[in-house]
Amino acid sequence: MADIEYRLPQKRELKTSIPGPKSEALTERRKKAVSAGVASSLPVFADELDGGVIRDVDGNQLVDLGSGIAVTSVGASAPKVVSRVQDAVAKFTHTCFMVTPYEDYVSVGEKIAALTPGSFEKRTALFTSGSEAVENAVKIARVHTKRQAVVVFDHAYHGRTNLTMAMTAKVMPYKQGFGPFANEVYRVPMSYPFRDPEGMTGEEAARRALSIVQKQVGGENVAAVVIEPIQGEGGFIVPAEGFLPALSTWCRDNGAVFVADEVQAGVARAGKWFASEYEGVEPDLVTFAKGIAGGMPLSGVVGRAEIMDAVHGGGLGGTYGGNPVACAAALGALETIEDWNLVDRALEIESIIKEELGSLADSSPIVGELRGRGAMIALEFVKPGSKDPNPEAAKQIAATCLEQGVAILTCGTYGNIVRLLPPLVIDFDLLRDGLRVFAKAIEEAGA
Ligand SMILES: *Cc1c(COP(=O)(O)O)cnc(C)c1O
Repeated sequence: MADIEYRLPQKRELKTSIPGPKSEALTERRKKAVSAGVASSLPVFADELDGGVIRDVDGNQLVDLGSGIAVTSVGASAPKVVSRVQDAVAKFTHTCFMVTPYEDYVSVGEKIAALTPGSFEKRTALFTSGSEAVENAVKIARVHTKRQAVVVFDHAYHGRTNLTMAMTAKVMPYKQGFGPFANEVYRVPMSYPFRDPEGMTGEEAARRALSIVQKQVGGENVAAVVIEPIQGEGGFIVPAEGFLPALSTWCRDNGAVFVADEVQAGVARAGKWFASEYEGVEPDLVTFAKGIAGGMPLSGVVGRAEIMDAVHGGGLGGTYGGNPVACAAALGALETIEDWNLVDRALEIESIIKEELGSLADSSPIVGELRGRGAMIALEFVKPGSKDPNPEAAKQIAATCLEQGVAILTCGTYGNIVRLLPPLVIDFDLLRDGLRVFAKAIEEAGA
């Protein structure tokens, strides 16, 4: 295994208060140029990113515990991504794969088919965003099954296009005022061990969800059941053991397509190539995006050949889908994950997070639960002595961290969850430094 290379010193360093004067000036310009509907978590503007460091325009170096929402797993300027992108972009930026095909698109398909669960024959189609991948998975499932209904879950996040807004659970900010939404989307309860009745098993949670489907939709009408094997925006909810296999079995028995939305949890993030592997589930279709291409926009659907090939020629595609530069980046990112053994590194990150935060999670009155897998770990904050969501604490802790140069993200239906999504290449001393700032912020907020 090769050593991880860094370009910037992997150190937290503050030269100004956060935000500094240059970021503040850019924020003023931004207000006049950029729609208020596009918000940013951090008040600083990026200058350069490498490994686990965000260097802002004022020269501050922040610890990156968010990876641009689980995207830059290999870092935001991984050498192999950069060099492959440079080579590709110098040859051609675009042909449109629907007009003139190129090899890298095919190579990404071959690689992703080999890495996703299931040894059956697979096909891949590439797109640009995660939402587009999810939309296309639904299109493919509908053509294959000649049915329409799509089953989704509480706390789900599947994107911001019209169909995927309908599939996403949370109204604010994702859906508020944007309707009407696509129909034939049915929502059922998720397995949420922290908030479900004590001791509810995965099988019981699956029965609770599927009995609603049977009564209100009818198994014979379901085209697809779409689920994140670990929910992302919803709060890193890991369903109880047995939940995913029960859904998968139900789909097989009812002729529905089982779709794992691995856009956030997939591609090494959760300590396996794909999070579905934890329970030996072999989804019919897998959607992927975020971590696949080292920050370049690329997404796709991969799955059983007979389902993927059910679509008529020309039925799938898009002008930019599988852009050649993004495909080159994906090949560089996948190679980087292998070279630097980042699947195992995600598990090492999990151990370090648990080592640094585990005792606090047990002792702090405002930490309800520490959960997640690999480099996808969250803390759910509650009001002391209860399970009532405590979004104020999550917000305050994120702000305290930011002041000290540690960039963390919040999420969750109730906004009460802090999620840790460090780049898988983060230097371990830097990670510990960031986690200690976070731990201290939790202690202060809970005191
Ligand atoms: C981010 C995300 C999406 C949407 O991806 P975009 O690239 O933002 O369109 C879909 N599903 C899951 C699970 C996600 O985390």
